[in-house]
Amino acid sequence: MAKTFFIETWGCQMNDLDSQRLSGSLKLRGWQRVDDEHNASLILLNTCSIREKAENKVFSRLGELRERKLERDLRIGVCGCVAQQEGERILARAPWVDFVMGPGNVGHLDEVLAGGKAIAVDFPEDRRYDYLTIDRPSATKAQVTIIEGCNKNCTFCIVPTTRGREISRPFDDVLAEVRFAVETGRVEIELLGQTVNAYRCPATNRDFGALLSAVASIDGVRRLRFMTSHPAEVNNSMIHAMRDHANISRYLHLPVQSGSSKVLRRMKRLYTREKYLEMLQRIREAIPQIHFSTDIIVGFPGETEDDFQQTLSLIEEVRYGSLFAFKYSPRPGTPALRIGEAVDDDIATDRLTRLFALHERIKQERLESYRGKVLSVLVEGPSKHDPSMLSGRTDDNWVVNFVADPSTPLGSMLGVRIDDALHHTLRGEATT
Ligand code: SAM
Repeated sequence: MAKTFFIETWGCQMNDLDSQRLSGSLKLRGWQRVDDEHNASLILLNTCSIREKAENKVFSRLGELRERKLERDLRIGVCGCVAQQEGERILARAPWVDFVMGPGNVGHLDEVLAGGKAIAVDFPEDRRYDYLTIDRPSATKAQVTIIEGCNKNCTFCIVPTTRGREISRPFDDVLAEVRFAVETGRVEIELLGQTVNAYRCPATNRDFGALLSAVASIDGVRRLRFMTSHPAEVNNSMIHAMRDHANISRYLHLPVQSGSSKVLRRMKRLYTREKYLEMLQRIREAIPQIHFSTDIIVGFPGETEDDFQQTLSLIEEVRYGSLFAFKYSPRPGTPALRIGEAVDDDIATDRLTRLFALHERIKQERLESYRGKVLSVLVEGPSKHDPSMLSGRTDDNWVVNFVADPSTPLGSMLGVRIDDALHHTLRGEATT
């Protein structure tokens, strides 16, 4: 049987990177990646369980794959957070699945494939992380995990169950991986973690700010990004590193979840509305051009119209450039299941619609404010909608599609004059 594999990935950047690790590890062992699942002898579903909708998709995909398995010799593995959360229940519900492997076992795929474990949902002490073999899809960008798991225990969130307790990688390992990525052409580095700014070197206790400064100082790192920061872990060391290194993106994703301190307390977010706003003020003073983005949950149990109005007023006050909002989705085993009264689904849908309408106006006003300005843009590739144009991102993380010499190498930094503001993106022409 040909050793061919197909990976389907849902969810966050951590899952994307886990798929790159799985792919690299398989290629090293002589497997070939295919883009058509019909040609694969191994199919991996790298799943997400952050909301119920994401989880349901996995089971409907498994239903389809059952048919494929009747047609030919095929192994099916369920990986990621649904694997971790459901474990053996997946084999009971879909017995045609060959193995179930959680995020803690990404570095142990070879043992799982060798048939040692049909259910691998532990968090092994020796979590292997082989950065030399990561199968990176971009020639100019590299994502680098610096911390796995989450210790925060927000009452709505499944992540601590599916990704385990926090474990940071040694500082020098991270730097070695970044240097290797730069040597192989990557000029843009994105540091990843569920709570990326909780990073602490296990050997030396150096914090996230120290790591940011050290990575930003590596020759060849043209842009440094990171995802996702928790508001309660923001400190001066992190703010000063961003202020002092021009190659650190002027973009900060800082999920607030709600504008009501009452709801934040019930979510166990560890900050109040006032503390959050004060912190943003401090960051703005240090880095005036900062672009804030956020995540919001509407319809958390017990959320009243007044709570929701506070969320709207917070959005108005901060003027987030980007915003991701979701209806609360009850997750198995989380404390929020026992908190307050559920919000009616129609009410939650209506709140989500109003919230997006408000943010749409703010985003358009912000995009319009760039008209006529010249911004520095890191070239990422051809524009998705018009391949005669190039596409890239500004220092503060806006996507710009622009006219330029088509032979411009990817990863170059160009000045681009902004001529137009579209729905989500800017449009312009290179000036350098
Ligand atoms: N670790 C990050 C944090 O806590 O700030 C974010 C991780 S999560 C992958 C991304 C977003 O999904 C969260 O910020 C939250 O807005 C949303 N989310 C998490 N659990 C949810 C739930 N039970 N229902 C709806 N949205 C949820």
